[in-house]
Amino acid sequence: MNNSDTPHAALITGANSGIGQAAATELARRGWRVFAAARSPERGRAAVTQIQNDSGSAAVELLELDLASFSSVRSAAAELLERAPRLDALVNNAGVNLGRRTLTEDGLASTMQVNHFGHVLLTSLLLSRLMQSDDPRVVNVSSMLYQRAGAMPLDDLQLEHQWRGFRPYCISKLANILFTKALHRRYFEHGLATFAVHPGGVRTRLGADGDRGGPLSILWRLVQPFLLSAENGAAPIVDLVDDADKRQLAGAYFNRHQAATLNEHANDHHAAERLWDASNELTDAQWPTL
Ligand code: NAP
Repeated sequence: MNNSDTPHAALITGANSGIGQAAATELARRGWRVFAAARSPERGRAAVTQIQNDSGSAAVELLELDLASFSSVRSAAAELLERAPRLDALVNNAGVNLGRRTLTEDGLASTMQVNHFGHVLLTSLLLSRLMQSDDPRVVNVSSMLYQRAGAMPLDDLQLEHQWRGFRPYCISKLANILFTKALHRRYFEHGLATFAVHPGGVRTRLGADGDRGGPLSILWRLVQPFLLSAENGAAPIVDLVDDADKRQLAGAYFNRHQAATLNEHANDHHAAERLWDASNELTDAQWPTL
């Protein structure tokens, strides 16, 4: 178990922007040591400086991590294990909503690798360290748009036949929830508290960079004034990491601050298990036996 004299430590993916940056800032402000993961060293360094300034904490460090590359995930995990003798929370937050189907260097659909497979591999590599914490937590940032996915397309995980509107993104967010269930099922009895969360509709850069085209981009621009701030969107995530009372709701999906019921596809135990097996095979993830 950890020495309570050292500060709690969290790794947050996609911490150089939007919800991830806001969550990193609030945890740093509360005294957590924060590893802010970013794929771009330039954007990552700028964000770390900003998070330090906004939180008043120097205990914020950059970790280079490109989820679209399994070799980057492995190097980042190795570096983190070197730098962080203590790790209490992992926030799998980074995400993309791409308008076109592209493949990663590992040959997988980018939307699925960044949003799901990369986080599965990262979690597997860090789990032993996390489990040394008195109160280890994994928070998977999903979306209520999972409801638009239908059933998990277990025979088409590279989304070759799913490319309509937001559907690929919705499928990846359903995968976040099924991953939460499978992880909870295996490790809750060993003390791991795993959550999935919809942060709300939040004004961020998600889907910018020309990723979102056509009528959906017009709709997205129209709703901008009604969206939450990044700080507001990060609040439920920070609670799931830092609020002791949340542990009793481990395994749940949160719609912002409330544990919420899931539809039949997200509650599909068989689909969660098949996705777990397929994800481990594709990423070569090895899970610790405790
Ligand atoms: P955002 O501002 O675009 O942040 C996404 C983060 O993911 C950025 O830091 C981005 O880095 C990072 N990222 C993208 N590709 C990556 C890769 N290959 N490797 C590592 N990091 C990568 O959007 P956001 O809204 O804060 O999104 C955060 C999470 O919230 C996502 O999982 C999203 O699905 C979820 N969510 C958002 C909303 C919403 O309304 N905004 C609603 C529901 C759920 P770069 O800056 O380098 O691109």
